[in-house]
Amino acid sequence: MSEPSRRQHEVIHSLIKKLLHFIRDNKNLEEMKLTINAYSTALFATWYFIEELGLLFDAGDGLTSNLMGKCGKIKHVFISNADRDHLAGLLQYNQLFAHRKPIIYYPKDSGSFPFLAEFTSKFDPHTFGTQWKPLDNEQVIPIKPNYEVTCFENQHIDVEGQLKSLSYKVEETKNKLKSEFRNLSSAALIAIKKEKGDNFIQEQIRKTILIYSGDTPVYDYSKYDNCKVLIHEATFLTKEELVSGNNKNKHSSLEEVMEMVANINIEQLIIGHFSSRYNQQQIDESIFRLKKYYNIKIPVHCVPVGQMKKDILHSRTWS
Ligand SMILES: [Zn+2]
Repeated sequence: MSEPSRRQHEVIHSLIKKLLHFIRDNKNLEEMKLTINAYSTALFATWYFIEELGLLFDAGDGLTSNLMGKCGKIKHVFISNADRDHLAGLLQYNQLFAHRKPIIYYPKDSGSFPFLAEFTSKFDPHTFGTQWKPLDNEQVIPIKPNYEVTCFENQHIDVEGQLKSLSYKVEETKNKLKSEFRNLSSAALIAIKKEKGDNFIQEQIRKTILIYSGDTPVYDYSKYDNCKVLIHEATFLTKEELVSGNNKNKHSSLEEVMEMVANINIEQLIIGHFSSRYNQQQIDESIFRLKKYYNIKIPVHCVPVGQMKKDILHSRTWS
């Protein structure tokens, strides 16, 4: 075989250079894998743990007995409302993990949390470190570099002038090299950066990576639009059952959630908080039927009734 010519060398060299540029530009934009473990059955318990972000949404019963030592990774706890199925796990969690100094956030007009904070401080005086923080509407909480959680009011508990139920949005910010600088060498980039600063060559990209609905009726599609992963409740399967079941605090039906998902832009859906009146076969069949009816192509994941589901996004889906 003949030796590669000078020309071939140049082509290979140029390709490697392009590849290195590509890797450098995109390293910053790599997707974060989300490992989500959850339990969510209406009336009994709901909690969702997003491991990579140290984030817990809601803290129903069974939180510590299922997650055990993994609870030590939780740094921020966001509670959506004070219904007991969303907070009953806090007592044991606080007793075992207060020393990790977690912060527990809650809707500012939910009186249950200051009571619980006071009670736990007396019931378990040997353990301390937990901070309890009330949240106002649209408050933004930085949870780690480049990641923020924003809360927004939903319509589960509709009391005029009082904030008692929240949904949560997780946003990620990344810096990307502006397109006009992509072909420059590292040395040239460093020189420009030194002279003009980071912002001259980089632009910020903001993405909603996850939204957690908490308990809420389906009301304003735009609130849940444009996110990578939507976690939404579906207490009832049909709109008819919803009408007869929605008393004081309002919920969603699977039918409405799927109708909304067909009309918004999301990449994956996780549905939970089903009523235990349904067996898993009824739920599975409804998801399958509605997915077909609304022509939903994205993966739809379900938190089964009465069971914890591990790593939801990477286990079996309805596709
Ligand atoms: Zn609930």
